[in-house]
Amino acid sequence: MIEEPMTTLDDEKVLPLRRTHYNATLVERINIHDELFRIRVRPDAGIRPFEPGQYVALGLGNWEPRIQPSQEEVLDEKRLQKLVRRAYSISCPLLDPSGNLATCADADFLEFYITLVRHGAELTSKAPALTPRLFMLAPGDRMVAENKITGHYTLTGIGPDDTVLFMATGTGEAPHNAMAAQLLRSGHRGKIINATTVRQRADVGYAAEHERLQQQFPQYRYLVITTRDPENLDPAHPGYIGKQYLQQFFTSGRLAAIADDPLDPANTHVFLCGNPAMIGIVRAGDQPPQTPGMLPLLVQAGFVNENAGPGHVRYEKYW
Ligand SMILES: Cc1cc2nc3c(=O)[nH]c(=O)nc-3n(C[C@H](O)[C@H](O)[C@H](O)COP(=O)(O)OP(=O)(O)OC[C@H]3O[C@@H](n4cnc5c(N)ncnc54)[C@H](O)[C@@H]3O)c2cc1C
Repeated sequence: MIEEPMTTLDDEKVLPLRRTHYNATLVERINIHDELFRIRVRPDAGIRPFEPGQYVALGLGNWEPRIQPSQEEVLDEKRLQKLVRRAYSISCPLLDPSGNLATCADADFLEFYITLVRHGAELTSKAPALTPRLFMLAPGDRMVAENKITGHYTLTGIGPDDTVLFMATGTGEAPHNAMAAQLLRSGHRGKIINATTVRQRADVGYAAEHERLQQQFPQYRYLVITTRDPENLDPAHPGYIGKQYLQQFFTSGRLAAIADDPLDPANTHVFLCGNPAMIGIVRAGDQPPQTPGMLPLLVQAGFVNENAGPGHVRYEKYW
């Protein structure tokens, strides 16, 4: 028998499904704007020990409503009763209520930094399944947070005087926040540069927190690069600078100048997170992009992608 496509389930089916599957509560939602938020999630069973930089799967039932507008998704009744899960790096509140450094370990919740994907990347792509549902949630709502926290994108092999360079696109900043807070807490003496590229300045979720940390810790530097603000797009803008890429900041030496550090592979560790184009992963058979990603540029500069010592490059790609 062919099942009829549907978009929702009746309440009498939804309530027991939620009771059976959901094991965590969204305790706080910090809206940066309509398509970007920070959420704090408390698992019923408490938080297992984890390392800054790791990730966990969050989930919701396909029976939950989707934010509008978003790409239409039509599922049969069987699929509507299933869960959708996606990986999310654990971010960090960065500050406590008194404005002092807070690490992940100080919180009794897991913090996430998430962007809404309303449509698949291409016309033919499947509808994004989780974020249009996540963005419907309010504090007190229930959800899935898998017990297992995992990942190798972590702080290993870093000496207290080494330079640590984090480079992210958008919400790829999340694991860097967790790692930067941990380094600062541990008394790290070397430079910590947390650089991120976003479309617009409005797409920055932790601006005030980074500002405060820079004041408290002279070795900490936060840098935002935009690609779609008026000064990036409008040649008539008095401050026109064109599109900015982390890659150009690195190769031109501007990043080193801003960081006040030579970013020498002899004592620098690099972390790349987010969009695979920035990281520089070219899939077999694909043409290399016009703007090369960071991996080939780092190799040219003497960095290596193996062994967790100085000069090591680690990356986490989000899709
Ligand atoms: C290890 C790991 C950690 C991750 N951590 C985060 C995180 O901390 N925050 C976060 O927002 N996402 C994160 N992601 C991506 C996340 O797992 C989902 O893919 C994303 O939230 C979209 O889910 P979806 O079901 O709505 O759409 P999907 O069907 O999963 O994705 C649809 C398309 O959306 C685009 N996309 C996916 N993620 C992003 C993103 N972050 N920014 C812009 N476009 C995107 C891609 O083109 C992708 O093909 C992570 C992914 C991995 C593998």
